[in-house]
Amino acid sequence: MKEDLLNSIKNNEFKIYLQPKFDTISEKIVGAEALIRKIVNGKIIMPDNFVPAYEKTGIITILDMYVLEEICKLQKKWRELNLPLLPISINESRHHLKNKNHVQELQNIVNRYDADTKLIELEMTENTVIEDIMRAKKAAESVKKLGFVVSMDDFGTGYSSFNILKDIEIDILKIDKSFFKDLEKNKRARIIIEAIIKMCKKLKIKTVAEGIETKGQVDFLKKIKCDIIQGYYFSPPLEIHDFENKYLEEKNS
Ligand code: C2E
Ligand code: MG
Ligand code: MG
Repeated sequence: MKEDLLNSIKNNEFKIYLQPKFDTISEKIVGAEALIRKIVNGKIIMPDNFVPAYEKTGIITILDMYVLEEICKLQKKWRELNLPLLPISINESRHHLKNKNHVQELQNIVNRYDADTKLIELEMTENTVIEDIMRAKKAAESVKKLGFVVSMDDFGTGYSSFNILKDIEIDILKIDKSFFKDLEKNKRARIIIEAIIKMCKKLKIKTVAEGIETKGQVDFLKKIKCDIIQGYYFSPPLEIHDFENKYLEEKNS
């Protein structure tokens, strides 16, 4: 499977899509998340169809490093074209935590492209961290020393979410889409989300609401001052050139 993956990378079968993120109040773009897709015979294969298998064997780390490298290249391109440099987040598999050389590998890639780490956000999922909180804490500290921004993805889908916030100094919390599903009908969900956002403000953690699809959800998030919104309501993930045409040139003009 590793050979297959390396071949697919070499043959440019993987494509990175960018989903923009927006400031809740101004509704202006503030960044994007890099999401991988595989293109086979012109058909788009979504990550849920291959990421879990790569996770099982651990070779997901190869794909993650590929994504990081592509994002560093993109940053370099935007800099050379004098386009606005938006921060981009990438998904980091739990397998990186077991790799002692991971931080060095990240450093090598960013050095190769002279990338600004402040514009690269590493998303760890809650489930990654739960496996070994102390190791995750150390990893977060090391990458933050290199300037990377650290976020927790899918917050609220694991079992000991709040413990993690106590132990790890993350910069950004991405609240999972499951919280927002029946927001309009579910008063308890609204109370919990509002409390999470209040708590994050005190901890100086920025909040991102994931999977936002309706105006009702946006209005609620404005009211409770969630910082950032990501979701189909504003935009699905886009191919890089569509993203550039829609958001970068617009900003420049
Ligand atoms: P994630 O990191 O939580 O990414 C957010 C997912 O929610 C994306 O699915 C995105 O397309 C989807 N989404 C965004 N807005 C909405 C919305 O309004 N409604 C709904 N229902 N969904 C929305 P996608 O691209 O299929 O990716 C699924 C997961 O695959 C990601 O979840 C992430 O865990 C994983 N993944 C994607 N790319 C990579 C990668 O490069 N490396 C690793 N390790 N995992 C990746
Ligand atoms: Mg993510
Ligand atoms: Mg997520």
